[in-house]
Amino acid sequence: MNVILLGPPGAGKGTQGAILGRRVGLPKIATGDLLRTAVQQHGPLGRKAQPYMDRGLLVPDEIVLGLIEEVLASPDAAGGVIMDGFPRTVGQAEAVDRLLKARQAEVDRVLQFVVPEDELVHRLMGRAAEEGRSDDIRDTIQQRLMVYRAQTEPLIAYYRDRGIVVDVEGTGTVDAIAERVKQAVG
Ligand code: AMP
Repeated sequence: MNVILLGPPGAGKGTQGAILGRRVGLPKIATGDLLRTAVQQHGPLGRKAQPYMDRGLLVPDEIVLGLIEEVLASPDAAGGVIMDGFPRTVGQAEAVDRLLKARQAEVDRVLQFVVPEDELVHRLMGRAAEEGRSDDIRDTIQQRLMVYRAQTEPLIAYYRDRGIVVDVEGTGTVDAIAERVKQAVG
């Protein structure tokens, strides 16, 4: 089973993806985590990605597509994956379709996490304080939300026609949301 978690930053994709992954026994893969690790390692990928991440912009597809290919072609992903934070552009979505098709698989479910904007900002400010994430400061938060609306939200229409999009209300307790995710995945 291949599941995409779609939603703005702060919507709870990471937390819920981890819970879902444990429940169904599939790896949860987050391009944001992989990119942050690459930045810490100061390798070529990290050096290219960091300026975009620091400004709250998407890392360009030509940089991210290689990472996505690596992830989806790995043996760990053979039984399916929970995709957290990708695809984020139509170009990435097309790449995901192509890569899954190559192993006779497809996107089975897209969970759209719905959370009001003021709640997102509140959560992201809290995360910035706790984790010291350099991209979670107020201007960058606004930037990331704008980028989501402009570049990632159109993916809902991309998948909607296939009848695989399920909206998940992303407010309430972690347990309550996990229960909704469970229902949504079936
Ligand atoms: P996240 O932890 O998913 O919010 O990602 C943090 C940052 O990493 C984003 O603001 C982007 O700069 C970058 N990033 C993560 N995943 C992607 C992706 N699939 N495409 C482009 N940029 C990404």
